[in-house]
Amino acid sequence: MRKHRELRPFAAFRPGNLEVHTGAMSMLIVGTVATDDIATPFASVAGVLGGSAVYAATAGSLYTPVQIVGVIGADFPTAYMEFLKERQFDLEGLEVQAGKTFHWAGKYHYDMITRDTLATELNVLATFNPTLPSSYRNTPFVFLANVDPKIQLSALDQVAEPSLTVLDTMNYWIETQRDDLTAVIRRSDLVMINDEELRQYTEEHSLLRAARAVLALGPRALIVKKGEHGAALVTSDGYYYAPGYPLEDVVDPTGAGDSFAGGFLGYIATQAQVTERELHRALIHGSVVASFTVEDFSVDRLKDVTREDIQRRYREFASFTHFERLD
Ligand code: AMP
Repeated sequence: MRKHRELRPFAAFRPGNLEVHTGAMSMLIVGTVATDDIATPFASVAGVLGGSAVYAATAGSLYTPVQIVGVIGADFPTAYMEFLKERQFDLEGLEVQAGKTFHWAGKYHYDMITRDTLATELNVLATFNPTLPSSYRNTPFVFLANVDPKIQLSALDQVAEPSLTVLDTMNYWIETQRDDLTAVIRRSDLVMINDEELRQYTEEHSLLRAARAVLALGPRALIVKKGEHGAALVTSDGYYYAPGYPLEDVVDPTGAGDSFAGGFLGYIATQAQVTERELHRALIHGSVVASFTVEDFSVDRLKDVTREDIQRRYREFASFTHFERLD
């Protein structure tokens, strides 16, 4: 096996593209805005606010302003729209169409990680082709959250070359839109995917080999999410790992991946440069934010999280993962 060399900072990969900046930069999020029915072995809810863009934006807005690209139907509950407005998301790229909002239903197994999708009703998403507002087109940080890869590609075609493009997906798109998904992977800087989906996409059991197969397509880094077991950042010559935050009670794991991404990229957007050190810190921020999400259904816990809550949990992470070098 290859010896792991030091991770190279992102800036080194594309010199000149990543501007040094101070203060928070906006992040653009393309994804689903949904209503979800969720069942766990312990409780169930129906018609709650969900969607990859909603979780990512709620998390990302703890750090930086967010712009949303997505679609909802005329049935989208007013109270949910109020929440999106109160949160001050830029909603100029959120289209309202006649028809029904994207709806997803899932049921978790006893491990609270694995789940069965019971329903994926695309509704207005089936014909959605985004038109990005001009104010979105130069946003430096782009998160292509879990949604039809054709929508991700169309959005990507409309932005000037971003500093960092992060991609997430899920089994549904791996199974139904594999070629388009591969096309988006080729254009992304960083891919986030869970272990099961990574194995499914690459048809490779070893996660490290599977990660390398994705990196061979073009991305400079991959984050493998392993539910409560944490997440690993893999580059062609580097590896870094963040554990999951130990929680006694996980109420609903839905949106953990999306809010992880929101925390990760939101933090990156506040940094002057995307260096190796900041990537590592971002991985912890993602884990911290995701740990709040799973403490309740929908965004019910996440919406009340403060910067102080994040700082506190971040410090805990540092204390229980730190160990001394031998030398
Ligand atoms: P996560 O638990 O991070 O995978 O995200 C779950 C969220 O993604 C839920 O709120 C769903 O509404 C949404 N979702 C489920 N299936 C899909 C899909 N095929 N494409 C986009 N979003 C989806």
